[in-house]
Amino acid sequence: MASSGNVKVVCRFRPQLANELSKGGNSIVRVDAGGTACQINGQRKATFSFDKIFADGCTQEEVYDYAAKPIVEDVLKGYNGTIFAYGQTSSGKTHTMEGPNVDSEERGIIPRIVYNIFSYIDLAPETLEFTVRVSYFEIYMERIRDLLTDGNVNLQIHENRERGVYVRHATELYMQDPEDVMAVMRSGAERRSVAATNMNDHSSRSHSVFLMEITQKDTIKGGLKTGKLFLVDLAGSEKVSKTGADGTVLDEAKNINKSLSALGLVIMSLTEGGNRQHVPYRDSKLTRILQESLGGNARTTMIICCSPSSYNEQETISTLRFGLRAK
Ligand code: ADP
Ligand code: MG
Repeated sequence: MASSGNVKVVCRFRPQLANELSKGGNSIVRVDAGGTACQINGQRKATFSFDKIFADGCTQEEVYDYAAKPIVEDVLKGYNGTIFAYGQTSSGKTHTMEGPNVDSEERGIIPRIVYNIFSYIDLAPETLEFTVRVSYFEIYMERIRDLLTDGNVNLQIHENRERGVYVRHATELYMQDPEDVMAVMRSGAERRSVAATNMNDHSSRSHSVFLMEITQKDTIKGGLKTGKLFLVDLAGSEKVSKTGADGTVLDEAKNINKSLSALGLVIMSLTEGGNRQHVPYRDSKLTRILQESLGGNARTTMIICCSPSSYNEQETISTLRFGLRAK
């Protein structure tokens, strides 16, 4: 089954980590030479194919070039886009989206996007005036929290003719250069981790949503174009234990699975084509926020992140199956 043109599903395997190796994990994945199919050869044997599969030796640049670059080009033409990282905790989502270090070849998709957008703007004709705005929030237990200011912990989603679907009162900051954006990301990440102190691994259970809106005005011909790009580091897809002494985990499990399964359903209905009326965007906060940037003319890449280790076989297979359903 081929993906519809505007939705790509790609898969990335990271290298085995020290803790997997030390538990005797071995790699159970073989990626075919063509880079679109892989065999899982563990307790179970299975073959999965996607638009593209990146084996553990791939570079951040290769992932960016395939998964993000075409979307960035379209966003600069006024289309909307979304790039997701999906996978269990420790599968490489944050490594893929952000990377460990902005100044090295290991920088991930978001810093590459940011630098490329500003260099595009620098090279554009003087008659085009650009503005770049960012917002940054997280969704945890179906509540939206602003990561760019303190106290905005329960933002609501609104819709009107002028703005379409938007997060009301979310802080929006105008950015002059890539360093501004990277500083904003760092402060958002700090806010995120502060809340985490009393919660069980909060950051792996919340979705982080970074939004860049690029507007260009043609000062000679007139006319305004805006492209919105959502960059989403999803909550860990592993099953959260359903029983907690006080019931908290149960609620959490339910709500986290709700956003992820709603997302799966939305992407599935989009890639099956036809019947757009029945795309269930309203089933979760996440899909509602992304409504205008998923489907229609919007460009979407889902990056399915996996461990290659025998030690994580179960989760890897369910992650790959999620990706297949999205195809
Ligand atoms: P997640 O965000 O899915 O929980 P991380 O991105 O934090 O996972 O990755 C877990 C660990 O694996 C980190 O220590 C990270 O540096 C490492 N890692 C992930 N992907 C890669 C990769 N492609 N190459 C090298 N190390 C990686
Ligand atoms: Mg992470």
